[in-house]
Amino acid sequence: KFASREYHPEGTVVDVNGIPVGGKQVVIMAGPCTVETYEQTWESAVACHAAGATILRGGAYKPSTSPYSFQGHGEEGLKILRDVADKLGMRVVTEVMDPRNVELVCRYADILQIGTRNMQNYDLLREVGRVRTPVLLKRGMWARIEEWMQAAEYILVGGNPNVILCERGIRTFETHTRNTLDLSAVPAVKELSHLPIIVDPSQGTGKRSLVEAMSKAAIAAGADGLLIEVHPHPDQALKDGAQSLTCEGFCNLMRNLRPVVEAVGRTL
Ligand code: PEP
Repeated sequence: KFASREYHPEGTVVDVNGIPVGGKQVVIMAGPCTVETYEQTWESAVACHAAGATILRGGAYKPSTSPYSFQGHGEEGLKILRDVADKLGMRVVTEVMDPRNVELVCRYADILQIGTRNMQNYDLLREVGRVRTPVLLKRGMWARIEEWMQAAEYILVGGNPNVILCERGIRTFETHTRNTLDLSAVPAVKELSHLPIIVDPSQGTGKRSLVEAMSKAAIAAGADGLLIEVHPHPDQALKDGAQSLTCEGFCNLMRNLRPVVEAVGRTL
């Protein structure tokens, strides 16, 4: 099978327009949960970039549990992300939810994010398998590792070899954290697959105070990168403020992460 470790025993490095994901360097994707305004995206991106993030995250199409909460700015949001990232020399990762929007999102994004709720949306997986833009495939919040690998297989067999996996926590009986971040998935996936894997400690915990510890633990477990939510004013965020770091908090996290990254023989 295309996703299995035997297919590429040495491991795959996905090239995100010049930024390698899966190599020696740990890649940091950071930015707001949601693109709200140009200023908010810019402020977050400047801080993330200054602290060492190379890929700007931000949602333009938001998968909201409630139909009444903010759904994102759509193409306007994509334009903001692209413009901000270009000014700072960053790449863009953003979610695509609808197979009909894949082509449009490809025009603005360097990585197409498949969110947890769409991990088994096979039409969407087939559609992102047809392009060559790298895909960040989040683990379904209910999904076993085997099911996640099968979802990756859909994209790979479709012809797109550029798949990055993202552990973002699963539903368990625990409600103290928003999800239960399954860090054992990192070394498990490394055994099973050649694909790079990153960790999202923001969605994984839902709590700002836990993000740094889980970031360190993810790197120690062998993750190839992190996806972190950063908002200039988390208390005013339209979505997920409770798990968003402040710009200063992100800067501290990056400083404290460095010794862990070096301890596992990697670079930031
Ligand atoms: C996100 O990263 O913006 C997001 C919605 O994540 P998830 O799909 O993991 O909930």
